[in-house]
Formats: sequence, C-alpha cells, structure tokens
Amino acid sequence: MIRIVRPRLPTELETSLLALTQEMAGTPVPDRGDHAERMWGRNSVRRDVYQPVREALKDMAPGWDCCMYCGNHLADTVDHFVPKSRCALRTFYWPNLLLACSTCNTRFKGDEHRSDGLVGSLLIDPTRENPFDHLDLGLASGVYRPVVGSPKGEWTIEVCGLNTGRRPRVRADTWLNLADDLKDWDRARGEGDVRNMRRKVYRMRTQPFADVCYAALHKAVSDDAPSIFAEAEPGLLDLLRDDELRASFQV
Ligand SMILES: [Zn+2]
Repeated sequence: MIRIVRPRLPTELETSLLALTQEMAGTPVPDRGDHAERMWGRNSVRRDVYQPVREALKDMAPGWDCCMYCGNHLADTVDHFVPKSRCALRTFYWPNLLLACSTCNTRFKGDEHRSDGLVGSLLIDPTRENPFDHLDLGLASGVYRPVVGSPKGEWTIEVCGLNTGRRPRVRADTWLNLADDLKDWDRARGEGDVRNMRRKVYRMRTQPFADVCYAALHKAVSDDAPSIFAEAEPGLLDLLRDDELRASFQV
C-alpha cells in the first residue's frame, strides 16, 4: 500500500455526485441503506457517474490501475472506503471512493469497517495518510507487519488480507526483479543511455505491487537502512539512495 494523491474531479462530475448526495440526504434515515444500494445500481448512475469515477480513480492509481489496498494491477471496481451500508451519505462522496481489485473489494474488505475510537477509520486510507507510517514491508519475504504500536497497521493487514495466499510470494519476486531493474538503470546511466534509464524507471513504477519499490526507497533513507539491506546485493542501497534515481520517482 502506498501514498496516493487525490486530485479534484471535473466540475460536471463533482456536481453529479453532489446532487446524488443531496438526494440521499433527503431520504429518511432508516431507508438510506436500501436507497443507497438502489441508487448505486441505477443504469444512469452506472453510466454517468460510476464509470467516469472509476476512470478518474484509475488515472490517480499507481502503475496500471493498481488496487489501492493490495497493490495488484488491473483493479476494476470502485470501493467505498466507509461501506455504504455503514454510512449511506458517503455513497457518492468522492473522498470515500477508492479503486480496488475484486478480491479486496468483495472477498476481503467487503462491508468490514471499524472506527479508530475517535472520528476516523481503523483502516488506512492511502489517499489521506502515508501507509508507511503504519505498515512495514519485509522486502525479501514480501510480508507486511504493522509498525509497532499501530492498530491501523494490524487491522489493515487483516481486513485487506495483505499477507494472504500468494501475495507475499509475488512481492518477494517483485523485489528480485526490482534489484535487476535498478542495476540495469545504473548500467544505462553509465552508458549515457537516457532513453533506457527512463524505460527502466517506467517499468519499476508501473509494475504490479509497486509498493515494493516505494517501500525500498522509503527504507533506504531510514536510520536502520544498513541493517535492513545488509543481505542485499552490494551497491543496491547506494542506488536506492541515489539522488538522480529518487528524483525520477519523485521521492
Ligand atoms: Zn486488491
């Protein structure tokens, strides 16, 4: 899971979402849950709101439509961060909508929701906060652990199934591929091959589970970096700390 910047929507789409929210606000409170489901399934809403919202989310998602929870690519559903069954008024609220793969949206997260005991959610919202404040990714293992003392990290790993099935294995493979790409990038730089350098960065940014790449860049400048990368290939840490490379990733 990585930090994602949420842009403003085109005015026309923003206005449509606001009108639907106003319709919901005019619905008696006990009826709002059912009404939200009906409105979400309306043909006109699917065509004029759902699809453009999904495209906007795909544009802001990292890589090729990466799921904003697990990081896998080709995510294709609009998820309600706070489920509409819990807060119907947020059904058409742009900051409540995220791109998710069907596995996260239906199999894992679904209608699960827990409050943080204050005013927010216990689930990490990558469009509002930096997931690395709560989640620590083991690069070689591909396994997520909560940052010590972070209930949000714990709950997010559990509710999104971040360590379930083959996900850790795929992340571990991604780390191996990343190491190769970094060396290729450095080789291209040595040859003055700017085009190939750009291609390598593009590949690293757009691959599925790009969270591995951003986690490595994040860890490389931490105080613990020498011990974290002690087992990594020689030179890898220096590359991850390289100003030119980091500028390419805008970190
Ligand atoms: Zn997912």
